[in-house]
Amino acid sequence: MAFKRALIFLGPPGAGKGTQAKRVAKQCGIPHLSTGDMFREAVSRGTELGRQVRPIMERGELVPDELVMQMVEERLSWPDCQGGFVFDGFPRTLPQAERLNGSLRARGFGDPKVVDFAVPHEKLMRRLTGRWTCSVGGEIYNIYDAPPKVPGICDRDGGKLVQRADDRPEVVRERLAAYDRQTRPLVDYYRQRGVLGSVDASGGIEEVSRALDRILQCAKGADVRL
Ligand code: AMP
Repeated sequence: MAFKRALIFLGPPGAGKGTQAKRVAKQCGIPHLSTGDMFREAVSRGTELGRQVRPIMERGELVPDELVMQMVEERLSWPDCQGGFVFDGFPRTLPQAERLNGSLRARGFGDPKVVDFAVPHEKLMRRLTGRWTCSVGGEIYNIYDAPPKVPGICDRDGGKLVQRADDRPEVVRERLAAYDRQTRPLVDYYRQRGVLGSVDASGGIEEVSRALDRILQCAKGADVRL
């Protein structure tokens, strides 16, 4: 496969990284790796990892780097990752970013391409506390800005809509604080390495998609075909 690149979508919770990562991954035929989704799956399956991370996630705090790295390393060893992947919500701390660099080199990848999704905090609060997801197909709604036709029911497949436990306002505040404290420094870290692009992610999905596609296509040395 000609395409072999790690993409990293960086940005605060609610910036729309997940929506864009799913779309880009599908278009490029590479896996979408969301560490948040992986942890949620471990919690819902009731595994040992799930038992450990559940209380941390419920407080809106970050899971310790060691647990994150073990899970990510294991996932990167799957054959579907050989041609590239899109990280969504990882790395989230400087030690995670450093460990990822080593891991990418060891797996024959060049520098990752990093996109920062910039959105003001007040918008994020509304996006996150209003977010409800279809329990069947994963379709995402916002009860303020993009509500379903029938409250609580997915327009597409009739599935029940559920709110993530960590989208409650008091937890959202902690998640945004954790972002500012621990993850925001990665913007400068990747900028200094010359691998950062930035999109204004405060607009609608279509607008953000166009801006993102321009960045991915224009990126120096990018071999992403969209
Ligand atoms: P997300 O869906 O990306 O907002 O992640 C949900 C929660 O999972 C976060 O609030 C953290 O508790 C945990 N989490 C996900 N990814 C990471 C990561 N890379 N490092 C530490 N904690 C993470």
